[in-house]
This record gives sequence, structure tokens and C-alpha cells, in this order.
Amino acid sequence: MTQTIRTRFAPSPTGFMHIGNLRTALYSYLLAKHEDGQFVLRIEDTDQERYVEGATDAIYRALAQTGLEYDEGPDKDGGVGPYVQSERMKSGLYMDYAKKLIDKGEAYYCFCTPERLASLKSTTDADGNPFQAYDKHCLSLTKEEIEQHLANGDPFVIRLNIPNEGETSFHDEIYGDISFPNSELDDMILIKSDGFPTYNFANVIDDHLQGITHIVRGNEYLSSSPKYNRLYQAFGWDVPVYVHCPLITDENEKKLSKRSGHASYEDLIAQGFLPEAVLNYVALLGWSPTDNQEIFSLDELVKAFDYHRINKSKAVFDLTKMKWINGEHFKAMDPERFYQMAEPYLKDFVHGDYDYRVLSEMVRTRVLTFPEIKDQLDFIDVLPDYDAELYRHKKSKSNPEVALEVLTGVLPLLEEQEDYSNDALFALLKDYAVGHEQKNATVMWPVRVALSGKMSTPGGATQLLELLGKDESLRRIDRGISMLKDTLNQA
Ligand code: GLU
Repeated sequence: MTQTIRTRFAPSPTGFMHIGNLRTALYSYLLAKHEDGQFVLRIEDTDQERYVEGATDAIYRALAQTGLEYDEGPDKDGGVGPYVQSERMKSGLYMDYAKKLIDKGEAYYCFCTPERLASLKSTTDADGNPFQAYDKHCLSLTKEEIEQHLANGDPFVIRLNIPNEGETSFHDEIYGDISFPNSELDDMILIKSDGFPTYNFANVIDDHLQGITHIVRGNEYLSSSPKYNRLYQAFGWDVPVYVHCPLITDENEKKLSKRSGHASYEDLIAQGFLPEAVLNYVALLGWSPTDNQEIFSLDELVKAFDYHRINKSKAVFDLTKMKWINGEHFKAMDPERFYQMAEPYLKDFVHGDYDYRVLSEMVRTRVLTFPEIKDQLDFIDVLPDYDAELYRHKKSKSNPEVALEVLTGVLPLLEEQEDYSNDALFALLKDYAVGHEQKNATVMWPVRVALSGKMSTPGGATQLLELLGKDESLRRIDRGISMLKDTLNQA
């Protein structure tokens, strides 16, 4: 029987959901789901100094909005909880595991004072190399000495006993075989002097106890992995499969930081991107499918995802590409859902008695982000000032003279017209064009310019007539006629 794959997302609630963290969550989810495995959420909140209020909620929110549903987590027990590290700590389990290692000779008590440790840092080894690792001073304490220290209540830490000789190697699925000389590895602290586990120790114990088979995380953890590996070896546990993901940089190839303005999931949502589009783009930051497909739903990603195709070179966050992907998701999305999300923007940019669902459909396939709705609809509240040259359009066979003739010709018809529906208006203007032996576009172009003062608009001339209504349309066409007369008289 093949082993069920179990992955986990183990965020520390230290801020907003960084894009790199979202990618870790996504790849962990995809790796598990591609193989019908399980995806676990574990909150690693033991570093109280870095804890940020509200950060845990931000994690839940981002996972829920993007659809990264976990099979087990703090609110979904799978039998290997608790799923919050601070709660796990209460049981004293980490101390028990540290003591197991002491019994095996794989770890030891260290009673060195902070002063001694500080002075060590300024020393050099026999070859004159600067201090790299703890000198194992306390490893040579006798059983009696240790018991005496403990009986005195002397503060201690528990350290992993890494041999000085040899090297520690591990295999990473993306970065290959990596070896570190043991002499460079510090006898890392497992239990701190306050009795709490270090983050690194708790992380390994939890991954093992929760049956995690594949560990996906950012490559900033690559250098800690030999130590993690030594821990697995010291316990005699199976080593999980490591999948370290490449760094994500900004356009200048600097680590994607808050300063870039789009480093977190929340930043992108605030800028008008869709959760599914963010997820789609993030999937491509370091991974590529076998074909050239770029637009994916989450289900499609699950099917296509092969973690062996994660890249080791830096992934550059390209905002232009993010926008394009967002636009493609707008095109494919349910109009009503788009409307629900676009409504605040529409109502912010356009004021009046309009059918906002119509406005919404006019812009849905034309914008890449929600704030771009403004540029599309900025002519509705107030007709912008525009130049008579806008009436010149080669393909439509329009120019200011022709436009003046057309507008003057259609104005009385539009005054008489009662039915201001798009279809009726289209038929009216089409008849006019036929009657005057003109191309449709020669009539539509000037009308659209007069109504909008713009080169391009969402919706054609008759849609704008319907939208603006009779009074406002007639006023704008009248204004176009006056403006053209003035300009042509001057010429
Ligand atoms: N809690 C760590 C973080 O938020 C995750 C480390 C890991 O995935 O092993 O960066």
C-alpha cells in the first residue's frame, strides 16, 4: 500500500500573508491534493515576541478566500492535535522528547552562563578560525555534576549533540543533495532556559507526530535543514521529503518586501485583484506546467501540479502579468459575482440613477483590476473637455466636417425618438446611415465621441445613448455640434 501524502502549512502569525507564504500554502495544498493526500494547517505561534495581533485571522481569511481548504487544523480535528503550537506546548511533550534524546546520548544539558557564551563568541579555534559553534563544554559533565546543577535549580538549556567529525547530508527535491560539514553546525538548542522548545525543535517534533510526509517551505529554511535532519536521525525517525521553493523577488530582483506595495495577499486584494487570480499567479512563481497554459482554476492546478517542476531560480513578481491574469479571470467569471465585487467601485465612480448591473457588464471584460473601472466610466458623471480632432477617425471615415453633418442630421431624430433602448436606437441610426449612403461607423463614431469625449468607451454609441438617457444625450450632442461649429468657423 502506498503511503498517504500529508503536507502542512505551518505559518507563524507574525504579520500579513506574505506572497511567499501563500505560495507555500498553495504548493503544500497542491502537492497533497494532486495525490489525494491530506493538507494540514498548523499555527506556529510560539515566538511571542514576533506575534502580531490579528495575524492568525489573516491566515484563516486568506485560506478561506482562496479556497485552500485544509483537512485538519485548529478547528478541524484529525486526531493529531492540537494544531496550535502554543497549545501543544502545555502538555510538556517537547521536554519529554528532549529527554528521550538525552537518554540516547543525542542531546545534553548545558548550564553555561550567558557570560561564558558571550566570551566564546570572541574566541577562535585551534586553526585560528572564528567561533562557529558551541564548544561542547557541558557534554563532558559527569552524571553527578548534572544532578547537582539540577538540584541547585541552575538554569539550563538542552542541546543537540552533533558530532564534530563528518558531515550531514540531506536531499531536497528541488535543490538536490546538500551537505554541510558537522564542524560548522552548532549544537543547536532544543529547549530554552525558560523550559520552552526552540522553534526549530518544536517544528520537527510536530511534523513527525502529525505524520507529515512532504515538507514544502521557502528556501530560507534550506540552511536549517541539516539540523532538522540530524534530529530525525537522532530519534531514528523517517526523514520527510523536502521541497524548498525559490525566493520571490520584486522587479529589481530584490527580495519582495513590504516596500514594493504588493508583497502580501492583503495588498493585492486591496488593489483590486481577485483571490483566484492571485492564487493563479502565485502558482506560476516558481512552478510551470508542461504546456504553456497560464490561466488556471484551483481544480485545474490540482490536476496539473507536479512538484518536480518547481524551479530553483528566483521567481520575479511581475505586476503587469498579475494584472493580465486578473483580467482573464474577470472575463471568465460569473457576471453577478463580478457585479457584487465591482459594486463599491462602480458606486464610487458613477453617481446617478443608473442600472449598475449594466455598467458592470460594460466594463467586466475591459478592465484588469477593479480600480481601472474609473478610467472606463469617467465620462458618465461629467462630460470631459475634448478636442474636435477626436472626431477624426480614418477607418470610420469620420472627420470634424463629416461629424458636424452627422450630428446635426441625427439630432432631430433623437429628439423625436421615444424608445431609448439600445436595439431601437441602433435600428434608428442604422436607417439613418443607409438613408445617407454612409457606413454605420461614420454615424456611430461622432455620436459616441459627442456622448463621451473619449477615443474608446465601454459600449458603443447606442449603448451610451441608452445609458445616459434622452435628456443628457441630447445635451451632449448639442454641445458637440456647438463645439464643432466653433472650431470649423475658426479654421
Ligand atoms: N513557521 C514557519 C514560518 O512561518 C514555517 C516553517 C516551516 O514551514 O517549516 O516561516
